[in-house]
Amino acid sequence: MAGLRGAVTFNAPLGPYTSFRIGGPADVLVEPADVDDVCRLATQARVRRIPLFVVGGTNLLIRDGGIRGIVVSLSNLRAIREEPGAVLYAEGGAGMPTVIGYAVRRALAGLEWAAGIPGTVGGCLVMNAGTRLGEMKDSVKAVRLVTMKGEIADLPASAIPFEYRRARLPKCIVAGVWLQLRQGVRAEVEKVVKDYLRYRKDTQPLTMPSAGCVFKNPPNDSAGRLVEATGLKGLRVGDAEVSPKHGNFIVNRGRARAEDVIALIGKVRRAVKRKAGVRLDLELKIVGEA
Ligand SMILES: Cc1cc2nc3c(=O)[nH]c(=O)nc-3n(C[C@H](O)[C@H](O)[C@H](O)COP(=O)(O)OP(=O)(O)OC[C@H]3O[C@@H](n4cnc5c(N)ncnc54)[C@H](O)[C@@H]3O)c2cc1C
Repeated sequence: MAGLRGAVTFNAPLGPYTSFRIGGPADVLVEPADVDDVCRLATQARVRRIPLFVVGGTNLLIRDGGIRGIVVSLSNLRAIREEPGAVLYAEGGAGMPTVIGYAVRRALAGLEWAAGIPGTVGGCLVMNAGTRLGEMKDSVKAVRLVTMKGEIADLPASAIPFEYRRARLPKCIVAGVWLQLRQGVRAEVEKVVKDYLRYRKDTQPLTMPSAGCVFKNPPNDSAGRLVEATGLKGLRVGDAEVSPKHGNFIVNRGRARAEDVIALIGKVRRAVKRKAGVRLDLELKIVGEA
C-alpha cells in the first residue's frame, strides 16, 4: 500500500458499504484519494498479484465470508462538472441521484430515466443500469478508465459493447463518465424525475435494505410478475424476504445473512421454473466467499 494517500482499512466489514446491509469483511478496503491514487493502487495490486474488486454497493450480495484481496470504494471520487455542449463529467464514485440533481439544477435533460437508481456512476456504467425509460448506454458519451496497468484510458461510448445490464469492458476501474445530455426546461425535467420517483416509491420497498431487482426480466415478461403469479411474495428464509410490495425485490428484515438470501433465491427460481417453466437469471451480483 506504499504511497497511497487514501484510507486503507484491514479486515473491514462490508455490510455498511452495501444497500442490502449484508456482507463479510474485505481483507483490505481502500478508498483512494483521487485518480492518481487509483492508478497507484491498480499498479501495486497487479505487481503483487492481489485481486481487486470495486464496490459501489447497490447491486451486490456480498457473501458472509467476505472478499479476499483488495476492495476499492470510490467514495472520494465524486466530483461532477459541466462541460460545453450539455455534457456532464461525473467521477466514478459520484452517486447517480446526485448527478441527476446536478443536471436538473442546470436544466439538462436526458438522465431522467435513471431517477431512483441509487448506484454510483461507475457501477451504473458497468451494469448498463436502466429502467423502462432508458438505460446508461443512451446517455454515455465517453468513459475514463484506469487499466490494471495503472494507466488512464479514455474510450468513446461507440467503443463499448453494451448489453442488457452489462457493458463489456476490459478489467478496469471506471474513474469517470462523460454524459451527453441536452438543454431542456428545468420545470419539465424536474417533473419527469419527480413523477418517476413517486412511481418507484409507490411500487418498490424503498424503506427496507435491498439490492434492487434480483432477477433480469425474461424476454417479453417481467420477473416481478412471474414471482407474484407463482405466489411467492412474502416468502422468507431467516430475515430475507421476497418483498410483499414487489416480487423482484428481496429485502433484509434486519439480520439476514447472505446465506439466507441465496437459499431464498434458490427457492424462488425453482418454484418459478416449476410453475411457469421460466428460468430466471440473476441481475444481482453475488460475490465473495461463503
Ligand atoms: C432500491 C434500488 C433500486 C434499484 N433500481 C435499479 C433500476 O431501476 N435499474 C437498474 O439497472 N438497477 C437498479 N438498482 C441496482 C443498482 O443500483 C444498479 O445496478 C447500479 O448500476 C449498481 O451501481 P453500484 O455503484 O452500486 O455498483 P455495484 O452494485 O457495487 O457493482 C456492480 C458491478 O460493477 C462493478 N463496479 C462498480 N463500480 C465500478 C467502477 N467504478 N469501476 C469498475 N467496476 C465497478 C462492481 O465490481 C460490480 O461488478 C437498484 C438498486 C436498489 C437498491
